[in-house]
Amino acid sequence: MSIEESMLAGCAAPTAPSGNALMAAADGDADEATLAHLRTCPQCSSHVAELRAMQARLRRRLYRLYCPASDILVDYCQGLLDPYQRAAVAHHTAICPHCAAELVLMERASPLADALGYTAPSFVIMPLP
Ligand SMILES: [Zn+2]
Ligand SMILES: [Zn+2]
Repeated sequence: MSIEESMLAGCAAPTAPSGNALMAAADGDADEATLAHLRTCPQCSSHVAELRAMQARLRRRLYRLYCPASDILVDYCQGLLDPYQRAAVAHHTAICPHCAAELVLMERASPLADALGYTAPSFVIMPLP
């Protein structure tokens, strides 16, 4: 039994949406019939949640393809980039939630990073909330 079959197992409703309908639901544009079914069917709605998580992971990976390297972000934080690079990074972080989040973490961590001579990766020096 494939993963998909095991996730769909248990939904024997005559109104069970097709795989495509569930995909559309994960994208946020399900039709009324699918939405009505999802409200009453835990199997199908958990399948949609699973699809959505998968898409989020994929999207994150795609984003990272176009992202500046971490050390560029570090230089940006410390004001070491030339004006052209700086503008490019500023433009990117304005549209990229992942790099923006990374910058926030770096900015928060930088006093500690300076004390350490900045060699530790950011996930180690990330302060607790
Ligand atoms: Zn169902
Ligand atoms: Zn980015």
